[in-house]
Amino acid sequence: MEDWPIYLDNHATTRLDPRALEAMMPWLEEDYGNPSSRSHPYGWRAEERVETAREHVARLIGASPHEIFFTSGATESNNIVIKSQRGPVFASVLEHKSVLAPCEWMRAQGVIVCHLGSDKDGFVQVPQEVAHASLVSVMLANNEVGTLQRQALSQIADRLPEGGLLHSDIAQAAGKEPVDVRALRLDLASLSAHKMYGPKGIGALYVREEIQGRIAALVHGGGQERGLRSGTLNVPAIAGFGEAALIAFSERAAEQQRVGGLRDLFAALLKRRIPGIRIHGGEPRLKGNLCVSLPCADMEAFMAHVSGKVALSFGSACMSSKASRSHVLREMGIGEGEIRRSVRFCVGRFNTEEEVRLAADHVAEALDKAGRGG
Ligand code: PMP
Repeated sequence: MEDWPIYLDNHATTRLDPRALEAMMPWLEEDYGNPSSRSHPYGWRAEERVETAREHVARLIGASPHEIFFTSGATESNNIVIKSQRGPVFASVLEHKSVLAPCEWMRAQGVIVCHLGSDKDGFVQVPQEVAHASLVSVMLANNEVGTLQRQALSQIADRLPEGGLLHSDIAQAAGKEPVDVRALRLDLASLSAHKMYGPKGIGALYVREEIQGRIAALVHGGGQERGLRSGTLNVPAIAGFGEAALIAFSERAAEQQRVGGLRDLFAALLKRRIPGIRIHGGEPRLKGNLCVSLPCADMEAFMAHVSGKVALSFGSACMSSKASRSHVLREMGIGEGEIRRSVRFCVGRFNTEEEVRLAADHVAEALDKAGRGG
């Protein structure tokens, strides 16, 4: 991996922490039992491991273990939440596609779907109409511009009608920002382990105890996860997720201070080397996040020069078709030309100061080769 680009795409996914990998290994080797097997120690041990992981995930977000249901990740959790609804669903325009697409699907089924807009800094605006919502979905941290929506979530919780549900996609926030589902007054929350240094293909849905009867399964079968999500549990992945949650619980505060310092250094170096660079998204936002538009005449040339040196995200802000360009930046009122010149970086646990300094050099050099302007 020595010649590989410096990884600054930690919003897309994070590297599996070696400690999480270690926690997974026994369950891929000799401890291969099915936690649903009730009649022998293989099953008992696997069940015990799953329940320990459930406790760790619950503690990370201030929930109780019986409020945590394992799923394949935030996409599935978001789908379960949205598709359980019958009545007006409100979702912010900044949501991930895994919220917006099921909302569109629900609209096609005849359910009323409304959207909450954004201001120019990437903060969700809360209209009075949420007083008529049966569910409101607003992500805690945005995956492109990193903005934290604590204020919007609090306003929504104040305005929701009796029995209205508040859901948050916390995939980008969990393990990085303090998350307390009770303080946030959340009824539902979606997580993915691979955004917090756990394995891919595993995540969770938090469902507040009192509303568990109001959420319906998408996948039916053997009745695992108390019927909410059938299918044999992925014990190795759950063990890795639990370990990742345990690590985040004890290291989060110090880590985010370090990551924030590296991100600020990176931003300062880029600003010095690249006059005219513009940072998207206001504060408060995720500590590792840096989404910028570059004064670049030819973004395809820039990407060709930079992609072997720095792994960044140009995908959601990509040039191929209008539909694939960032809906988040567009909803913040940023023009198409500037969206085309936007890239996203995210500093994470495994980045070093040396990497960040080198990455800033690579970005500035690639820009020089591609030609400044735009
Ligand atoms: N929500 C957010 C905010 C995300 O960033 C992502 C991943 N990009 C998802 C949901 C989907 O996660 P997964 O692909 O693990 O289901």
